[in-house]
Order: sequence, then C-alpha cells, then structure tokens
Amino acid sequence: MTKWVYTFGDHHAEGSANMKDLLGGKGANLAEMAALGIPVPPGFTISTDVCSHFFGNANSYPDGLSGQVSTALQKISEMTGRVFGNLHKPMLLSIRSGSRSSMPGMMDTVLNLGLNDETVAALASETDDTRFAYDTYRRFIQMFSDVVMHLDHGVFEEILDDVKADHGFDFDTQLTGEHWIEVVSQYKSLFEEELGEPFPQDPMDQLWRAIGAVFSSWNNARAIAYRRLHKIPDEWGTAVTVQAMVFGNRGNTSATGVAFTRNPSTGENTLFGEFLLNAQGEDVVSGIRTPQEITETARVDAASDSPSLEKLMPGPFEQFQQCVTRLEAHYRDMQDVEFTIEDGKLWLLQTRSGKRTMRAALRIAVEMCGEGLITKPDAVSRVDPAALDQLLHPTIAPGAKRDLIGKGLPASPGAACGEIAFDPKSAEQMKAAGHQVILVRAETSPEDIQGMHAADGILTLRGGMTSHAAVVARGMGKPCICGAGTLRLDEQIETLTAMGRTFKKGDLITIDGAAGHIMAGRVAMVQPELSGDFGTIMEWADECRTLDVRANAETPADVSQALSFGADGIGLARTEHMFFEGERLAAIRSLILATDDVNRTDALDQLQDFQRQDFAKLFAACAGKPITIRLIDPPLHEFLPNDPETIEEVAAKIGVAAVDVEQQTASLRETNPMLGHRGCRLAISHPEIVDMQARAIFLGWFDAIDEGREPAGLEIMIPLVTGSAELAFVRERIDTTAKAVAHEYDRAPEYLVGTMIELPRAALMAGSIAQQADFISFGTNDLTQTTYGISRDDAGQWLGLYETRGMLKSDPFVSIDQDGVGELVKIGSERGRQTKPQLKIGICGEHGGDPASIEFFNGSGLDYVSCSPFRIPIARLAAAQAAIADR
Ligand code: PEP
Ligand code: MG
Repeated sequence: MTKWVYTFGDHHAEGSANMKDLLGGKGANLAEMAALGIPVPPGFTISTDVCSHFFGNANSYPDGLSGQVSTALQKISEMTGRVFGNLHKPMLLSIRSGSRSSMPGMMDTVLNLGLNDETVAALASETDDTRFAYDTYRRFIQMFSDVVMHLDHGVFEEILDDVKADHGFDFDTQLTGEHWIEVVSQYKSLFEEELGEPFPQDPMDQLWRAIGAVFSSWNNARAIAYRRLHKIPDEWGTAVTVQAMVFGNRGNTSATGVAFTRNPSTGENTLFGEFLLNAQGEDVVSGIRTPQEITETARVDAASDSPSLEKLMPGPFEQFQQCVTRLEAHYRDMQDVEFTIEDGKLWLLQTRSGKRTMRAALRIAVEMCGEGLITKPDAVSRVDPAALDQLLHPTIAPGAKRDLIGKGLPASPGAACGEIAFDPKSAEQMKAAGHQVILVRAETSPEDIQGMHAADGILTLRGGMTSHAAVVARGMGKPCICGAGTLRLDEQIETLTAMGRTFKKGDLITIDGAAGHIMAGRVAMVQPELSGDFGTIMEWADECRTLDVRANAETPADVSQALSFGADGIGLARTEHMFFEGERLAAIRSLILATDDVNRTDALDQLQDFQRQDFAKLFAACAGKPITIRLIDPPLHEFLPNDPETIEEVAAKIGVAAVDVEQQTASLRETNPMLGHRGCRLAISHPEIVDMQARAIFLGWFDAIDEGREPAGLEIMIPLVTGSAELAFVRERIDTTAKAVAHEYDRAPEYLVGTMIELPRAALMAGSIAQQADFISFGTNDLTQTTYGISRDDAGQWLGLYETRGMLKSDPFVSIDQDGVGELVKIGSERGRQTKPQLKIGICGEHGGDPASIEFFNGSGLDYVSCSPFRIPIARLAAAQAAIADR
C-alpha cells in the first residue's frame, strides 16, 4: 500500500529534512525538528503525491488515504492526550500548505479546525476561559469561510467593527467572552445566509474540506503568479501538514512570534525577531498590533518601552535561544522560525532557511565559513548569483513608494530617474545642460548611440531582451526597459501616454531595469556598495571555477570596467559598435553607400585610421589578458540613414545627390535584415573591408606592443558562417594581410582565427568548420533567433504570453533553451572536438551572463563564457557554483 501520510512528534518522525519533494519544505523540516527533539506540536504531512493525484483525478483522493489520516489522528491523540471532536478534551488542528521551495503567503492555511458549537463550550470549560474559546471559534469561522468557502473576509470584519462600535470599544482585547459569543452567532448567520448551509459542525467534514482547499490553493492566482516569477514548476504541487494546535492567545503567559537566527538585512550574527503577547500567528503578520522585540539588546536599540521576551519570559526565551542555535548549526544556515508559547510552554511551528538581502547573504556566508560551520565551496554556493545585481547598480530604495505607470521587459538592471527625452539629440543636449535623462524611444538603432550614452536610462516600447537597446544598454551598464507595449508614444507631438496619463519632454520618470517597472516622478534610490565580503566571496568563487569568464566589450572604458569586475579577458569585441562614434558612423555609411572605387577607397582609408587608433587603445586597456576581435557584423539596416536630414548629410559627405543616396539606401534595404547581408556575407561581398580591418588590427596591435601594453593573445573572429567555405575564404584574406604587414613592417603578428557558431547549420557543420578554426564561440543570440525562427528584435511583444501560458519556462533569449538551442551547442562542441580535441570553445551570446545557462555550458564542456561587463561577477559566481555542483 502506498504511504501517503507521514507522522511526526515527540522525538520521532517518519520523514526528514531531505524529503522536501514529498513533504514540502514545512513538512520535511517539522519532521526533522521532531526527530531532533525540538518541541514541535505533533502532526502529520500528506505528501505532494496526493496533490498530484488530486489534480489528476477530478479533485479526488487516492485509496487508502482516509485510513492513513485516521491512524495518524489517533497517533496525535496518543501524544497530546486529546481527541479530535471530543467533548471532554477536544483536539484542534492547523491545516497548512507547504511546497518544495517556500512560497511565503501564496497558499492557504486553516487554523483552529475542529471547533463547533459543542467543542467550543468544552474548550471554554476546560480552560475556564470563555473569551479565549469563542475568540478562537470566530477566528476559525472566518478563516474557514475565506479559505474553504471563498467568502470575503471583509464582511466578517464589518460585523466585528459593528459589535465593537455598539459597545464603544476600540480594541479587540476589550471584548469579553459574552461579546465573542455574540460575534460567533452573527458570523454563523452570515455564513448560512451567504452560502445556504449552516456552518459545518462535523470536525471530520471540516478537516476534509480544509485539506481539499489547501491542495486547491496551489492553483490560486497568487500562487500561479509567484511560480511564474520564481520559475517553480506547476507539477511540484503542495503537501498538506495537519498539526495539533497550540495557542499563543491563552492570556499573558502565552505569546507568538517569528525570528531569524541572524539579522536578515545586515547579516549580523544576532537573534532578530518580534513577538506578540496573547496572540495567534496571523496577528503578527497582519500588523494590527505592534510587535515587541525578542531580545533585550534589540529593545534598547529600538528605544521601545514594551518589554522584550527575554525580560517577560526568561525561561521560554532561554529555551528558544538554545533551540534556534541548535537549528542553525544543524542546518548550517540562517533560519527563519515561527514559535508559540502556550501558557509558558515553548513550541516551534516552523523553520526554514531565512530570506535575506544580498548584503546579508554575503556576510552570513563569509562569517559562517569563519565560524567553521560551512566550507568555502558551501559559502560560494549559498549566494544567489542573479541577486548579485542588487550590489552592482543603484536600486530603488526598499520601501520607496512606486507610482507605477507601466511595465516592460527587465532588459538591463539598475534604477534610473530622469527627464524624458524623445530623441537622441535632445538627450545629449539635456545631459549637457546638467539634467538626468531617460531616453524614450519606440526602439533604438545605432544612430541613437550618442543619445544612449548621454542618457541615464533607456526605455523602449518595442524590442526583446536581445534587441539593440537591450544589448547596448547592458554593455554600457545602463538601466533599460524594453518592449513596454502598454505605453503609447506619439513621436510627432512628443508625448508618452501611460495608464491614461500623458508625459511630455522634460517630465520626470523613474525606471527600474531589474523589475521592468516604469514610474512617474522621482523614486528614492540606494547606491551600490561593494563590501569586503563581496570581494571575499568572489575570490573563493575563482578558486572553485574551471570555466573562464570573459566580457563582451569594445570600448576602453567598458574593457576596464570588465577587468575591474574580474574578467579573464575579452570574449567579444563587436567592431561594428566601434563605428558608433560620430565620424566613424559617417565613414562606414560612406563605405556602404559608395558608388565608385575612389569613394570606397577613401572611406576605407579613413576607417582604417580610426580603427587602428581605436584598436590600439582597446588593446592597451586589455593589457595582459586575451582579446577576441570580431570582424564587422552589421545587419546593414542598422547603419543606413533613414531620415531626410541624415541622408542629406551623407550625400554631401560623399559628394553625390541626396536622391542617389536615397535610391542606394532603398536598394540595400532588406525584408529580413537579420537574415540578410550581414556577418561574413558582407566580408565575402566586400573583402576589402576584411583587409582593412585585419590591417588595422595588426597595426593597432604593434602600437600596443610598442607601448608595452599588449594583451595576452589576439583572436580574430568571423561572424555568421554557415560552413567552412566562408571561413576559409575570410581566413585566407586575413592571413594574406598578415603576411603583407609582416613584410612591410618586418614584424610578424601572432594571432588566431576562429569563428562564431550562430546558425543551426554552422552547429551541424562544426566538424568541418573546426578544420579552419583555431577556436569557436557560440553566438547564442543569433542561434536562438534562427533555431526558433523568432526575431530577437520583436519577440518582446508576444513572447511573454508563452511564459504566462506555461508554453515556455523562460524567455529563450535570456536563459538558454537547453533542449533545442542547447542541443545544437552540444552537437557543435562534440563535432568540433572530434576534429580538434583541443579546440577552444566559448559562448558569447547574452546567455553568457545567465546563471542557469552558465551551469549548462559548464556541463557541456565549454572553456569560457563571455558576457556584458556588469554581469561578470554574476558569471564568476555561477561558474563556480556549476563547478562545485559537478564535483
Ligand atoms: C550572438 O549572436 O549571440 C552574438 C554574440 O552576436 P550579436 O549579438 O552581436 O549578433
Ligand atoms: Mg550574432
């Protein structure tokens, strides 16, 4: 017979802490505590398998469950000396949810179950406390009606308010037993009126209805939204824990509270928590009364006149401290515990790893290692890499009021506040005049770069997580929100409309790039703080990881930023981004639009000079570390002038009529530019661009050597090949240029030539490609785009719907699709290494900064990941965690 029910209590338990999948976090930890001899009210947990059965079989239960529940109730009776539904010493129960990973407050709980018109009287006479008994009964009716019958709890509050008003009372504590009897009677009438049946009196009926309601709460809207946000699979389900009630509301020798074994906001190693005298757990959470400090030190610090638990109940306090110290040492992590003191006797109701701020997480990990509780790899594994972002950018101050006007994709983290600019030129002017600026665009293109540079934050209405705005903003470390589709932009009259409100140029808005929130006005922020603990954890992470972490950067400033964050080198310098600066943009446009050889040669010469200077600076910034330079890869449309003013400018520059430029531009326009004349295709139709770039790279390299500041290795990378022929062609041009340069300057450049694998065909052909390549690097942005056939620039509009519907676990442009795109990465790596066992393999798409993807790449045997500078610490930590998990 399948075991569905696991009992615990009185030094024994059928479950344990490592059975979270089956018993949920709460059930597993209660079992563990019971076995440790920590005082927990006895109870039993109905497994998550029952939840799966419940949902898979029209909300029915498996055979044998009911018998196992009855046996378990019997066991609780033996341990407590009370009987469920009995009129002498009635046992009351709490029915609580609990999934594998904690989902605080998302699912439902029913407390004080088992009370009816008779057991309440029994409870009153047993405790000689009518007030307590009927207050408890009314709490039960209210909670049962809310959770099980979905009756709005507000209507009950109204009744209570009326009764208090009738008697001239301000506080619940002023009500006597008689008053509570009156409240109970009105609650029951309301129940019957609203639901057409009397309040259920059979305790067994109450119990099964409550169990069903708690299972069902796995699928309430709150819980579903929370799971989407935290990527918790729907199939996990919840367990249900049924436990004997203990009462914190039995007068002034009773209390209830919550505590953390260390301070969850600073990480300081002191007991931190609050309690309420004569109250039940939900009173602490609901905030109707102000809780008191647990320790005397905290009370003094808070300058509170209400006595601490330490002072009020020294015995239970002492015992509590011993229990939580033991729990922390046992779990080797900071614990968040709930407790109740019933008539002087301490009970622990829950323990779990406590949520904490990033600052606290770092301090706790470092200090616990110092205390010998955990090892360095444990400490490294304890810190959530994704949350490190909190430390690297300014963020919205905790508790700051947010006047939300819209939401978009959280494209680049950090918060920024500024005046709205609707075009890049205004952004530059406003910045120059000393204002903070948020650049708001439908989408961005290379022409916007100056404005993006000037802006403090970027907001686009279109585009996904790898759109131009997103990639560039992340590279710059600027907060950015993309795909904010509910906002309306009127570029003509320069207005932004959001939730019925209209914003003009110069109006203040704040964006939170980590949450994707757009807010009106200025919202308070806090600045990043890179404390000593952060450095320590990073050092330990580097000792653990085997994957190299490089950066995607192409300006000396970004390279320096990346190296200061601990990058092992540069894995992708996108040379087309180097053309964004004013004069260079004009020169590249002249080249693309040149109608004769003279113009083309002029433009090439000019570009070569710019590139040589820029490469020399870039190499110097990367001294001592390897650098990968990618040859130009512009989807052409990103560089074409599209407004009459710019067309005039370009025409004047190359000395032709504007109409010619217009025609030429039109002829170069493509229906699918992302699948168009870009990457190595451009190098094949315009090999002179390859020659120019290779020459500029080699000369810049010599300049850096002459300055004594050369990188540790030069790697030249060819984008967007579909097979070996393209690579062989471009490689040949590079090698020829190298020979010519060696001949002219009498010094031979040392370099490697590799390629990006960013098309499915390239992944499949990696075996033959590797014959031509010294290294390969997966461009997972394009590989995702082409494997899915989803435009990376437009996906933001509708991809979210797939996530909401559960058709996608996460945005594949953010976290690698391991089954599909990931499979191509594996195939490409295997085939590449079949040809060249020592082939160096990396990845340089945005996934290089995503912890889950990094774990996957580590497992796939890659040598390095490359990501935006601001994600370097995250990637270092994630790489270390992946290596530790792999041991
Ligand atoms: C990629 O496609 O993953 C890549 C790194 O290249 P880009 O984003 O420049 O297309
Ligand atoms: Mg690409």
